[in-house]
Amino acid sequence: MYSYAGPPDLLVAAPSRPAGAAIPDRAAFDAWIAGQTRDEPHTYVVDATGCLLLAPRHTEHVACAGRAPVRSAGEVTFARTAAGWQVAAISNQSTGYCPDATSWPAVAAALDRAGLPHPGRFTDELTFRRCPACTELNVVKDNDFTCTFCAEPLPRAHVVSARDPDFTLRVATFEELLALQREAERLRLSARWSSRAALERQVAPDTTVFLAPALRHTPDSYRCHIWFAPRATATATAAAAADAGTGTGTGTVALFDVSVASLHALREVAEPDKLRMVVHMLLDRMPLTPIE
Ligand SMILES: [Zn+2]
Repeated sequence: MYSYAGPPDLLVAAPSRPAGAAIPDRAAFDAWIAGQTRDEPHTYVVDATGCLLLAPRHTEHVACAGRAPVRSAGEVTFARTAAGWQVAAISNQSTGYCPDATSWPAVAAALDRAGLPHPGRFTDELTFRRCPACTELNVVKDNDFTCTFCAEPLPRAHVVSARDPDFTLRVATFEELLALQREAERLRLSARWSSRAALERQVAPDTTVFLAPALRHTPDSYRCHIWFAPRATATATAAAAADAGTGTGTGTVALFDVSVASLHALREVAEPDKLRMVVHMLLDRMPLTPIE
């Protein structure tokens, strides 16, 4: 999901109800297109429920969506063929929402639901990156990940910030982590343990695991920050024995790929008292540094 990230004045000017027409099925599309002049391309968004919303050209995406977060947004051109209306061209061009090209599956699902044949991909695909140094929005061209405003490097992947609606903190048991590893192997996700045995060597079997999305890695997976307690090695056990009483050792943070569906199937840590517990647990496992 993408929150509006464009100029604030457009947000203020946008209606709180979607200006876009909901297209849940083919009948809705036929009724909508009959009322349009051939002034194309049209504005579209895919709303939180996965429904396509269409608006006339030059409608701001944030107005089309009624200020709400979207699954994707862009421009679409329809063509009337012998077989009926179909999508001729479609992009993720929305500088208000900056949807990643990996949002295509949400667009395809919305078009399928509306009974509209489509090309199976964005015909015009833009790569948006906000510069972490100067915060300006860039459109990456020719694979050049350099900010055009300040020349600092841009992130290669689409970063999930803590303010994004799809940011979430999830908790898993060791058994659930093993299941995620099995799935990662089956789906050939790249950031995973080399084997179950490697995982068992590194992760304490009684650990609690926390996961939070860090990058929108592929359309169906997140590259997540993963926190776990490391399995005690012989030397670590000796150190922990010397450190008895606090004896929890330090936690480990790594990157691990998780499918979107599996991440969302894990329990979420959302209530304030649970978040306080998590913060306490993470701080408790950080190594202490003497102040100078
Ligand atoms: Zn910059």
